[in-house]
Amino acid sequence: MSFVTHLEAAIDGTRLDHNQLQTLHDGRPLWVRYDLEAVGSAMSKEAVAGREPTMWRYKELLPVADESKVASLGEGMSPLLKCDRLGAALGLNDLWVKDESQLPTGSFKSRGLAMAVSRANELGVSRVAIPTAGNAGGAMAAYAARVGMEAFVFMPADTPIVNQYEASYYGANAFLVDGLITDCGAVVRDGTPHMGWFDVSTLKEPYRIEGKKTMGLELAEQLGWALPDVVMYPTGGGTGLIGMWKAFAELGELGWLEDSRRPRMVSCQADGCAPISNAWEKGERFAEPFPNPTTAASGLRVPAAVGDFMILDAVNESGGQARACPENSLLEWARRGAALEGIAFAPEAGACLGVLEMLVAEKAIDPNERVVVFNTGAAQKYVEVMGTSPLSQLPDPVDWRALAT
Ligand SMILES: *Cc1c(COP(=O)(O)O)cnc(C)c1O
Repeated sequence: MSFVTHLEAAIDGTRLDHNQLQTLHDGRPLWVRYDLEAVGSAMSKEAVAGREPTMWRYKELLPVADESKVASLGEGMSPLLKCDRLGAALGLNDLWVKDESQLPTGSFKSRGLAMAVSRANELGVSRVAIPTAGNAGGAMAAYAARVGMEAFVFMPADTPIVNQYEASYYGANAFLVDGLITDCGAVVRDGTPHMGWFDVSTLKEPYRIEGKKTMGLELAEQLGWALPDVVMYPTGGGTGLIGMWKAFAELGELGWLEDSRRPRMVSCQADGCAPISNAWEKGERFAEPFPNPTTAASGLRVPAAVGDFMILDAVNESGGQARACPENSLLEWARRGAALEGIAFAPEAGACLGVLEMLVAEKAIDPNERVVVFNTGAAQKYVEVMGTSPLSQLPDPVDWRALAT
C-alpha cells in the first residue's frame, strides 16, 4: 500500500490522479502528495531504525504501493563522513560529506531512477527512454534491466566515456546525439509517439524527486533527526535540491525534527553552465537558457531546467544562495578533496567545494556552522578528468628517489 493521495502541479496546484501515468502539467513538473497524518501513525523512528540500510527504509513516505514492483540494487543510506582535513583547508570546523559515490552505478542518480523505474513498472510501462548528460542514462539502464524493461538512452556525443559505455553494458539501446542534453530531449519527444516510450527525463515524471528526497530523509536520520546549517548541492536539473527541501517539509509536518531549524540550501554550478545562479543573482524565478554550456562536471551541463522555479523557490525560502564557481576551481577542489579525505569526489562536488570557498571568504558561512556537501558521483566515472591534471601524469618508477626525504 502507499499513502499517496494525489499529484499536484507545481505551477498552479492542479490535482492529478497518481494511479495513472503522468508527465508534465502546463509544461511544468508535479509534486507527489501524501496523507501525512496516516504516514505519521503508520511509521515510527524506531521501526525505521530497524530496517535495511537502503532508501526503501522510508517506504511509508515513498510512492510505490506494490513492493514486488520495486527495482532495487541496494541503493541508499550512503555514509555521512566528517571531514576535518578538508574542513581545515576551507576554514570550516564542522564539515561533512554525504558520499553518494558508493551508490549503484556510481552516482546518486540511482535513487531517482530506482524510484521512477519502480513506479513505471507498477503502472505497466515496458519501454523507457531518457535524455542524459551522463550518469542518469547508466542508472536508468541498470534499473530497467533489473525489472526486464526495454531502455533507450540518448546522450551528447561528448558525454564522459564511461557513461557512453555503461548504458549499453546494462543492455540499453544507447545513442550519441550531436548536441546538448536539450537536443537529446527533443529526440525523445519526437520518437515517443512512434516508439511508445515512457519519458523519464528529469522532472518530466513525478517520481525521481521522491527517490532523491531520500537524501534529505537520510541526512536527518544520520544527524539524530536534526538538520545542518548549510547544504551544498551541485545543481543540474535540481531534482535533489528540490527533493531534499520537500523531505525537510514532510519531516517537519510529521513532527520528526528536533527543532524548527532548516538548512540554507546552496545551489552550486560551474561558471561554464550557470543558468540557475544567473537567475538567482537577477532575482528571477525562471532561468534563461544558458548559451554554449561547457563544463567537465557533466551532471551540471543542463542549460535549461524545467523545474527552475522549484529550485529557486527552495533556495530562497531557505535563505540560501545559487552560485557558480570557476571551472578550474571545481577541478582543483575535487582533486584536493580526494587527496585530503580519500573520498572519490566527482567534479560536480568540486563545484560545491569551489562555491564553499567563495562563501567562506564572503563570510556568508560562519566557520563553526555545520555544513554538508553532497558528493553526488564517483570520480572513477570521470577518467578524462582524472587523467588531465599534471598531477596524474604518473612518473617513471625510478623517480621515487626524487621524493625521498
Ligand atoms: C545529475 C548529476 C548532478 C545534478 O543533479 P540534479 O539533481 O539533476 O541537479 C550532480 N552530480 C552528478 C554526479 C550528477 O550525475
